[in-house]
Amino acid sequence: LEREEPTHFGAGPAQLPTVVLQQAAKDLINYNNIGLGIGEISHRSKDAIKVIDDAKAHLKTLMNIPDDYETFFIQGGGTTGFSSLATNMAAAYIGKHGRMAPGGYLVTGSWSQKAYEEANRLHVPSKVIFNSKDYDSNKKFGSIPKESQWIEEFNKNKEYSYVYFCENETVHGVEWQELPECLASNPNVEIVADLSSDILSREIDVSKYGIIMAGAQKNIGLAGLTLYIIKKSILKDIEKCTSNDLLENNIPATPIAFHYPTVVKNNSAYNTIPIFTLHVMDLVFKHLLKKGGVKVQEQENNEKAQLLYTALDKHPDFYNLPVQKDCRSKMNVVFTLKNNDLDEKFLKEATIAKLTGLKGHRSVGGFRASIYNALSVESVKKLADFIDDFAKENSN
Ligand code: PLP
Repeated sequence: LEREEPTHFGAGPAQLPTVVLQQAAKDLINYNNIGLGIGEISHRSKDAIKVIDDAKAHLKTLMNIPDDYETFFIQGGGTTGFSSLATNMAAAYIGKHGRMAPGGYLVTGSWSQKAYEEANRLHVPSKVIFNSKDYDSNKKFGSIPKESQWIEEFNKNKEYSYVYFCENETVHGVEWQELPECLASNPNVEIVADLSSDILSREIDVSKYGIIMAGAQKNIGLAGLTLYIIKKSILKDIEKCTSNDLLENNIPATPIAFHYPTVVKNNSAYNTIPIFTLHVMDLVFKHLLKKGGVKVQEQENNEKAQLLYTALDKHPDFYNLPVQKDCRSKMNVVFTLKNNDLDEKFLKEATIAKLTGLKGHRSVGGFRASIYNALSVESVKKLADFIDDFAKENSN
């Protein structure tokens, strides 16, 4: 069960440490010498419950999750999160206030845009507080407007049932560096954040958030499972909201498998939890704990991002970086060649150098190097050297 250190920069579904996969492969066949694979045992058995509890405990340590928060897991991904966040948060607001207020969306790329569209499609009242395209001279995603530019729009609504944003826009390579002040210091607004592509990549203060949602793929596991961290008071508010309340406010009920209080009461096993997938996630957590935790990982991620951005910035006449410096992603480095005629040559020579997965998202084009937690500094150095060499060899 060996492989070379990966130099694959694909954005997904996942980049995982080799040691984690080696252990997972063994456990898929014979878990803890019980003679069965971890995916074959009942999700209500002692062994499975231990996987769920361990994963929660390890994540609590890694992210320093306060006691008044719950962690739970649901089948699905980021997109199922878009729907369930909207309906659960609407119910929470009605449960607490007896009336509805819109959800506010900070749109900085295609994932936050899709989250907004889904709330709208479900008839959960929602409003775009800003769309960063509107502030860009090319009308493209690639920047985050300053708070002073959108605070007036934000203040137009006195109440929000929640305010949603995506911390790292995987497709466009746009990452929030910190929470906007008007949200971080506002006890009346529940912050809902999609951390699908940057969870555990850097330290964050969980106590500032109402809900954190993250699809497992990319940094923490295989596709198929979504992680949620929720303030316990929100769970209580959702429970207070009755079917009649939903009817009166024209809010759709949440399907039972996505109803957060139901999932939490059943310790994430209301229905069949993909226990192998969760076990892989827990192996990732244990691996990160052993490595020294999120702070150590963050330093490594900073180093990796700096290697790539430095190599690209060194050749401003050759490479184009469409994302503004103050919101460049440390997970997904997006760039194009000034001379598009060289695109094919770049990809071909990169592949020969075993540097793969670099093609940009189909909606954006160009190139994208995804450098999640599992990708080593050595692998990123190889790509940085290639970027530098390619520019030198192909500049006029
Ligand atoms: N949110 C972010 C930040 C993502 O990167 C993705 C997928 O890459 C999603 C949401 C959607 O996730 P899924 O494909 O699991 O529905």
